Amino acid sequence: MPAPELAAIAATASRRAPGPAALAAFLGDLTAALHPDRVSTLEAARLAASRDGAYLSPLLSAVLPERFADVVVRPADTAELLTAVRLAHAHRVPVVPRGRGTGNYAQAVPLAGGLVIDLTGADRVLEVGNGWIHAEAGATFVALEAAARRHGQEIAMLPTTVGSTIGGFLGGGAGGLGSIEHGWLWDGFVLALDVVTCPPGDAPLRVHGRGCLPYLHAYGVTGIIATATVRLAPARQRTAVLASFPAAEWAGATSAGQGLLRLDPPPRLVSVDDATLIETYPADPALPSGRISLRAVVDADAVPTVTKAITAHGGQVESVSAEAVGYVSTLAFNHVTLRARKARPDLCHLQVGGEPLVSDPDAVRACLPGAMLHLDGLRTHLDAADPRRGRGFGGLLLSEFRDAATLYDGIDRLRDLGVHVIDPHTWELGGPALPGIRDAAAANDPLGLLNPGKLPAA
Ligand SMILES: Cc1cc2nc3c(=O)[nH]c(=O)nc-3n(C[C@H](O)[C@H](O)[C@H](O)COP(=O)(O)OP(=O)(O)OC[C@H]3O[C@@H](n4cnc5c(N)ncnc54)[C@H](O)[C@@H]3O)c2cc1C
Repeated sequence: MPAPELAAIAATASRRAPGPAALAAFLGDLTAALHPDRVSTLEAARLAASRDGAYLSPLLSAVLPERFADVVVRPADTAELLTAVRLAHAHRVPVVPRGRGTGNYAQAVPLAGGLVIDLTGADRVLEVGNGWIHAEAGATFVALEAAARRHGQEIAMLPTTVGSTIGGFLGGGAGGLGSIEHGWLWDGFVLALDVVTCPPGDAPLRVHGRGCLPYLHAYGVTGIIATATVRLAPARQRTAVLASFPAAEWAGATSAGQGLLRLDPPPRLVSVDDATLIETYPADPALPSGRISLRAVVDADAVPTVTKAITAHGGQVESVSAEAVGYVSTLAFNHVTLRARKARPDLCHLQVGGEPLVSDPDAVRACLPGAMLHLDGLRTHLDAADPRRGRGFGGLLLSEFRDAATLYDGIDRLRDLGVHVIDPHTWELGGPALPGIRDAAAANDPLGLLNPGKLPAA
């Protein structure tokens, strides 16, 4: 499989950049329509709004263009968002929505310059009901979780980047804490969205249930989420269990992990790391050197059962602490890549899934130089008859980065083994949802002004 032609895609997208006259006219109208505090053309603001977590990929960092947003708007509410998009459409200026900029595929990078809309100013939690919360796109998970807890509930699913926004998670994320029980964004988490199209109507478009699907992980190309209603679950008291296994006992550690995945209620998180990967984490007595680490966020009253599962498979419990729940979350999902690359900038990551991660780890590691495995529990498929049967592991494969050819050759070898690989080194949208995203983009953004360069050419 060849590496995507990112430099060529960026060059094509940059042809959509607004000319100086269009930009000047747009800016004039924008500053007349919105409070001056909401609009910035300062270089520092444009730069800050034009970068995201793409630095986690050595390939993306190498090809990101020097081009920045021409102007940044930070609307305070949906009315201001509608105004900014209406004016951008009138002047044919490209528009990229943005939350906290923690997405790691360069999905929030404005390849054609133009307008970046920073949604973090529209961050109100609007209403909490029984099983749902309605909030503006810029609300962070810290705020959403706090609001839900005041009503005895919690967010069903959230990314480990808890300071990120609900709009950014729906626009660019996939799953995270809670995914063992509730699956992915696409699995009924999203109940309704208010979406600003380009051009916008008088009010946002309201979509419900499956009608929300084309807006999920769509990088804003089908519309800008103004508000979202997502699922809550009853709040539970949890604690973090950190355990370790001998370095060669991958089978024991993953069997123990699978035992935890079958618990009811399920853990909010179960992670397993190769002993070699632990060396890239900060020193911690609960992550003993030279041993595989298993970490879980479980219901407090499940600790005796969890301990039994760990010791039955040759492991030992290193620590049990409610205070460590947040910390353990920062040793999961892409926080692992962040920590590993901080310690070893020569590493790069792939998102992987499938049975061979558990049943044939040596063959998986052999596909790339110096490869190390990290697993996170997930609901990998839906099984209505028995929800526990859909629970398994996905994860990350960290390996030494040599060049794109070695990496993509490794991806081919992994796929030949039956490993499911999601390439995190491209900003182009893909996957089974792409046809639906294409149709919605054509209907909602006929001029292709929303986040140019992210929707692959048909
Ligand atoms: C260390 C680390 C750990 C991570 N862990 C996880 C994880 O556990 N699970 C996970 O899914 N992701 C994870 N991510 C990716 C990312 O942090 C999350 O998906 C996060 O929720 C994105 O939110 P944000 O506010 O930063 O969005 P941004 O990065 O600002 O935006 C993400 C995408 O959504 C678009 N977008 C932003 N706002 C809107 C909107 N209102 N309407 C439409 N589109 C919009 C942007 O254009 C961009 O394409 C991780 C990233 C890092 C760096």
